[in-house]
Amino acid sequence: MTCDLLQLATPGVAGLQPYQAGKPIEELERELGLKNIIKLASNENPLGPGPMVRAAMKQPLDISRYPDGNGYELKSALAEYHGIRPEQITLGNGSNDVLELSARAVVTSEHEVIFSEHAFAVYPLVTGAIGAKAVIVPARNFGHDLKAMQGAISKRSRLMFVANPNNPTGTWSTRSELRSLLEAVPEHIIVVVDEAYFDYVQEPDYPDCIEWLPEFPNLVVTRTFSKVHGLAGLRVGYSISHKDLADLMNRVRQPFNVNSMAMVAAKTALKDTTHIEQSVKLNQNGMQQLTDAFDSMGLNYIPSAGNFVCVDLQQPGKEVFQQLLHKGVIVRPIDNYGMPNHLRITIGLEEENEKFIKALKKVIGKVKREA
Ligand SMILES: *Cc1c(COP(=O)(O)O)cnc(C)c1O
Repeated sequence: MTCDLLQLATPGVAGLQPYQAGKPIEELERELGLKNIIKLASNENPLGPGPMVRAAMKQPLDISRYPDGNGYELKSALAEYHGIRPEQITLGNGSNDVLELSARAVVTSEHEVIFSEHAFAVYPLVTGAIGAKAVIVPARNFGHDLKAMQGAISKRSRLMFVANPNNPTGTWSTRSELRSLLEAVPEHIIVVVDEAYFDYVQEPDYPDCIEWLPEFPNLVVTRTFSKVHGLAGLRVGYSISHKDLADLMNRVRQPFNVNSMAMVAAKTALKDTTHIEQSVKLNQNGMQQLTDAFDSMGLNYIPSAGNFVCVDLQQPGKEVFQQLLHKGVIVRPIDNYGMPNHLRITIGLEEENEKFIKALKKVIGKVKREA
């Protein structure tokens, strides 16, 4: 081959690292020949989808036909659920898709996109793919510093990503902090608030930004079916915004970006409030279980509003991660998020959390003895 294909990369793409996904269970089984591996690495709901969704997915579905490209039924269900109009909705192949659509609709390589240090990895990917400049604002106590993000606005700013709560840190912004930001941001700068973990959050001062949409035409709120609804494998998410912004996002959307099965499952998941409640309860108990264990081991962690928690190991997380793999436990190293001494643990079932805690105690003891 004479042509160096890597040289063909656009400037924005040349600087990107591919998204690092959690290690698949099957891959680890093949590599280490282990059985009964548990994965607490990608913030999925350990219960999976609820009984109503499982039943709906068994119903006959004509998959020889293209899905409804306008997602009429799912949008109707979402409009009713949120008390908004269907024209305000953009459906996505996961909310990652809508995050990208929001940027592609309004951002060019002349623009700047603002987000926080340690923020969700999809924001730099989306920004780089367009060739726009990423303005990364230093975090405060691992969380978003919204005042500093406001201060980072320039003539070239066009979009801001706010993860609330943020992944991987689990940190969240309060109602008053976020409102102050929205009130300060000029209307030609789009503010995308990513609420992927909305249902898990128990903090009383945590805002539901969908309520503020009538006041802020530049606000886009994204939600997903991948987390509390237990449908990560089906890929379905959405945003709600002013209808004109939704119109722009839908222009750049691939015509059939959400598949038929995903739409059936998603509209059913909205109705299964019992499953959502059970999932949230399980998460609260599991969070307590893990943080109690960290306390008893003398390990610091970042208080999290999500279904995951970052623990500070005071030593390279990558090494502890590797040793945990050998004990059949997959968690997430986050050195790629600029947090080399932390590991992110997804809250699992009680027995999974227990297996992780046991493994961590053994590994940490061992790593310390070797040091
Ligand atoms: C998991 C996650 C999402 C959801 O991604 P999907 O594409 O909907 O699966 C979005 N934002 C953040 C911050 C997340 O952690």
